[in-house]
Amino acid sequence: MSEPTLVFEEPKQRKKPPSHFADFTPEERRAKVEELGLPGYRANQISTHYFTHYDDDPESWSDFPAAARTLVRENLLPPLITLVRSITCDEGMTRKDLWRLHDGVLVESVLMRYPERTTVCISSQAGCGMNCPFCATGQAGLTRNLSAAEITAQIVAAARACDRGELPGGPTRLSNIVFMGMGEPLANYNAVLRTVRNIITPQPDGLGIGARSVTLSTVGLVPAIEKLTEENLQIKLAISLHTPDDELRDSLVPINLRWKIKEVLAAADGYADKTGRRYSIEYALIRDINDQKWRADLLGRLLKNRNAHVNLIPLNPTPGSKWTASRKEDERAFVETLENYGVPVTVRDTRGREIEGACGQLAALEISSRP
Ligand code: SF4
Repeated sequence: MSEPTLVFEEPKQRKKPPSHFADFTPEERRAKVEELGLPGYRANQISTHYFTHYDDDPESWSDFPAAARTLVRENLLPPLITLVRSITCDEGMTRKDLWRLHDGVLVESVLMRYPERTTVCISSQAGCGMNCPFCATGQAGLTRNLSAAEITAQIVAAARACDRGELPGGPTRLSNIVFMGMGEPLANYNAVLRTVRNIITPQPDGLGIGARSVTLSTVGLVPAIEKLTEENLQIKLAISLHTPDDELRDSLVPINLRWKIKEVLAAADGYADKTGRRYSIEYALIRDINDQKWRADLLGRLLKNRNAHVNLIPLNPTPGSKWTASRKEDERAFVETLENYGVPVTVRDTRGREIEGACGQLAALEISSRP
C-alpha cells in the first residue's frame, strides 16, 4: 500500500524536539542504550521507571548506577514538557494542564475523573492546520507536529497524577486516552502511531492500557484512515463529521473540500469491518448552523445501516465567536430524530466548560494575554 499524501505540512522548519526514549521502538531503545556504552538490559529498567512508575528523573533511581544517571537523562530522557499552569473545575475532577515545550510552544491536556474511569484528552500538534472556523485551535493555524515522546509525556504526566492521588478521591489508574486535544492526529501519523503503541504495549515497554480504551478523533483524512485500518488495532475511531451535507461541511470542516462525506464514511466503514469496532460520529451542535431537524433526518438516513454511533457535543463557544451552543429543545429534537432511525446517540458530558474546555482555548488565552 502506498503512503498517504498528507496535505498539511508544518508551515516552517523549527528546531526539532530533542529525541527521547519514548520516540523509539523497544528494539531501538535497547540499541540506543548500548550506543551509550550501557548493557542492553538497562533499557528494561528505564522502561519500567518511565512506563510503570511514571518516573522520568534518573537521579531518583536507586537501582541505576549513579554514573549512568546523567548520561541517560541527557541522552534518553531530556525533559520535554514543563507545566505552565493547571486550572481545575468540577470540584477538582477536571484538570486542564498547559505545557510549554522545548521551543516555547504551548499545548494542553485535560484530565477528567469520572466514577468509573479517568480519561486524559491529549494534544498531538501545536495548533492545527485544519482551520475549522468554530474552533479556537483552528484559528491559530498549525505551529508544528509534536514528537511521539512529547505526546507520550502528556499521558505519562496524567498517569502520574492519577497514581499520586492528585485528583480528589485518592489514587486511581489512568484508564482512557482520547486524541481530541489540539491538532489533527492523523496529520501527524507516525508520531501518533508510535504513541498509540507506547500506550497499548504491555509494561514494561509501554503503559499497558488496552487499545479499546484509546480513541482517535479525525476530521477525515481518508488515506490515513485507510492506513490506520491496515494496522488492525482495536483503538476506537471517531470521525468529526459535524454535518451530514457536503455543502455546509465544506465550510465547517474545510478538509471536506478534499474528501467528501461519502468517502470519509466509506473509509470509516472499512475501519469498522476490519477491526470489528463501531466508530463514532462526533457532531458539535451549533445553534442554527447544523442543528436543524432536516439535518438530523439526513444524518439518520446516512447512518441507519452503519456500524456507528453519534456523539453530540454541545458547542463550547470560543471567546468572541459568533458560534454558540444549540437550544436545549433543538438538542432534544436532534437526539429523538436519530433514535427514530435506530441510530445510537449520546450527548457528551460538557466537562471543563468553566476552564475553557474546547480544544486550544487555554493555550489561545495564554498567548493572547502575553505582553
Ligand atoms: S476542530 Fe479539531 S481539526 Fe478542526 S481546527 Fe480544531 S483542532 Fe483542528
